[in-house]
Amino acid sequence: MSCKICGNKTNLFFESSNGVIPNKYYDKKTNSNFNFSLNTCSFCCSVETKTSMMSDSQIFDSYTYRSPNTNMDLNSINFILENLQNHLENSNLNICEVGGNNGLFLSKLLPSIPNKKRVCHIDKIFPKYIDKVEHIDNFLDSDLVDFYELNKAFDLVIARHCMAHNEDIIAFWGSLFSMVTDDGLIYVELADLRKTIINQDFGQFYPEHRYSLSNRTIRVIAEIFSFNVISFKELEIHNGSIGVILKKVSNKNSVFCEDTETELELNKGIENIETNFDNWLQRIKHSFDNFESIGLWGASAKAVFTLNLLGENYLEKITTLIDNTPEKFSKYPPGFKIRCLNEYSLLKERNYIIGAPNYMEIFKDKARKFDVNILNTYDFSLN
Ligand SMILES: [Zn+2]
Repeated sequence: MSCKICGNKTNLFFESSNGVIPNKYYDKKTNSNFNFSLNTCSFCCSVETKTSMMSDSQIFDSYTYRSPNTNMDLNSINFILENLQNHLENSNLNICEVGGNNGLFLSKLLPSIPNKKRVCHIDKIFPKYIDKVEHIDNFLDSDLVDFYELNKAFDLVIARHCMAHNEDIIAFWGSLFSMVTDDGLIYVELADLRKTIINQDFGQFYPEHRYSLSNRTIRVIAEIFSFNVISFKELEIHNGSIGVILKKVSNKNSVFCEDTETELELNKGIENIETNFDNWLQRIKHSFDNFESIGLWGASAKAVFTLNLLGENYLEKITTLIDNTPEKFSKYPPGFKIRCLNEYSLLKERNYIIGAPNYMEIFKDKARKFDVNILNTYDFSLN
């Protein structure tokens, strides 16, 4: 098979029949598993998830994920504002966020940008956090760009944690690049494959992420569309992300250059990914072997995906399932035979693994309040 990004040969390193769409919840118990495989490209340094059954609309139909309100996005906001200051006049801007979920991020950024002109939010989810926004209730593609006259319409285009979800990734990036003015900026943020490998945070490879990308992949894609990476920041979100500012190529050369050590580390990680992925699964299974029955608190996509990968015997050890997203209440996560309950259903003195360890401090506070035990699940990398 060849890489859909750069055309080079990919290597299969994992196959399973326990694939699920982890943010798709069901009213009834269903047999929702399918085959999927994971493949690396060592040229553009990416991982591709291949499945036989999901279209983008199948994945996002009745999609339950909502951006949580935390402070983890403040570094991204400051980074965007710094770059606006350095490269654009920070007022009278046309701004668009693609895949902005419930509008939370845009609502935090906009107050720092005076006298906005056009503000646009493109997502199938209503931006309940922002007033007076042009909401385009659809997925981004070239038809949408034409229909809503988005071509070269924006000084700042933001796309956070959404580009990995698209089946035709090059077409998606092409649409994104077409929306920005010649002097404008694109801000892209995504989980960093290099950090995923270093942290063995392989829950990132859940099938909704059709790709896991690195800074090298972004550079390869940017070159296809004659864009430069002009600024770059490492971020904590999703256990290691990158935020990147892109601008149309002018006479200036790219200021972005990966140091050799980072690139070598990434290549080495990709070479050893099969062994590390297998070790990760074995480690989680080993931890589960100590328990007859456990609760899962925080039914994140990565946790739901990972627990399905372990197989039915392990999945059945989860006897209580708790999450505070209203869209998930009383529904069945894919592969599970039990319903998702809210936090008032936490059982005293029971043992819970945490499905979203990014927010461990919040869980610990609540665990004291509800008098429940949290098992040490940092190693599971269910972020
Ligand atoms: Zn490639």
